[in-house]
Amino acid sequence: MDIITNIDEMQQRCLAARAQGKRLAFVPTMGYLHEGHLSLLRAARDAGDILVLSIFVNPTQFGVGEDFDSYPRDLDRDAEMACSVGTDWLFAPRASAMYPKGYATWVDVEGLTGNLCGASRPGHFRGVTTVVCKLFGIVQPHVAFFGQKDFQQLAVIRRMSADLNLPVEVRGLPIVREADGLAMSSRNVNLSPAQRRQALALFAGIRLAAAQVAAGERDSRRVLAAVRERIQQEPEATVDYIQICHDETLTDLETIDRHALLLLAVRVGTTRLIDNHHLGEEIPES
Ligand code: AMP
Repeated sequence: MDIITNIDEMQQRCLAARAQGKRLAFVPTMGYLHEGHLSLLRAARDAGDILVLSIFVNPTQFGVGEDFDSYPRDLDRDAEMACSVGTDWLFAPRASAMYPKGYATWVDVEGLTGNLCGASRPGHFRGVTTVVCKLFGIVQPHVAFFGQKDFQQLAVIRRMSADLNLPVEVRGLPIVREADGLAMSSRNVNLSPAQRRQALALFAGIRLAAAQVAAGERDSRRVLAAVRERIQQEPEATVDYIQICHDETLTDLETIDRHALLLLAVRVGTTRLIDNHHLGEEIPES
């Protein structure tokens, strides 16, 4: 596996590989890899001839007072893990090269970014779409893999790729969880042992909602109230949002139907965790 930090070198390698008829599969991340990332890398490994992983903690998607500085980083550990699943090229550019003096171009997806994380983290998705667009321009992948854990991010990137006619196939893969149900996240390492236990409330809330829907409940408000109550039992948990949305438009749904997606963002201590679950999957075909 080669580690490349230079943007031009990365682009030249990718263009040369493309010219040789090689298929490029790409997994963009912020590093501090875990099994969720590895699931994307394994799928990407099978989808192309050359597997490119990027690791870049993108400053423009963090707001003022957010955790850019405390975001976990360990490139040596990441390189070992990436190599173990067959990554060919690890691209780790510097922020000063991605956003040099005079940088002035932004990609902004409207509509889909107005709700959920877009509402609670102003400017976040503008940073995400800008960096993913730049990474697509550098790597020029045939196929790129993203996790459904960041469901709204995946929807926004699909929209951007379609709207800008980017020649990239965007694929989304299921959430990978710890054995006890906590969705894997690089940020989990910042939880104290007590907070780690409290973080299970997100999955407990999801299970509660799924059980209610399985028992016939279709009123979003009642389900949301039950989930909120469960999460608020934890002393260090602060709800950012708990919503039930349509899985394509990401607008709120009053009545739970086959499109219903439960999405949560909860701060446990100072660590912001997100999770989601497709409640509609439990609803039998009528
Ligand atoms: P991040 O490094 O957190 O920006 O994530 C990089 C990619 O990995 C994104 O597409 C995430 O959606 C995906 N990802 C993160 N956590 C998980 C998980 N637990 N299961 C599946 N995919 C994940």
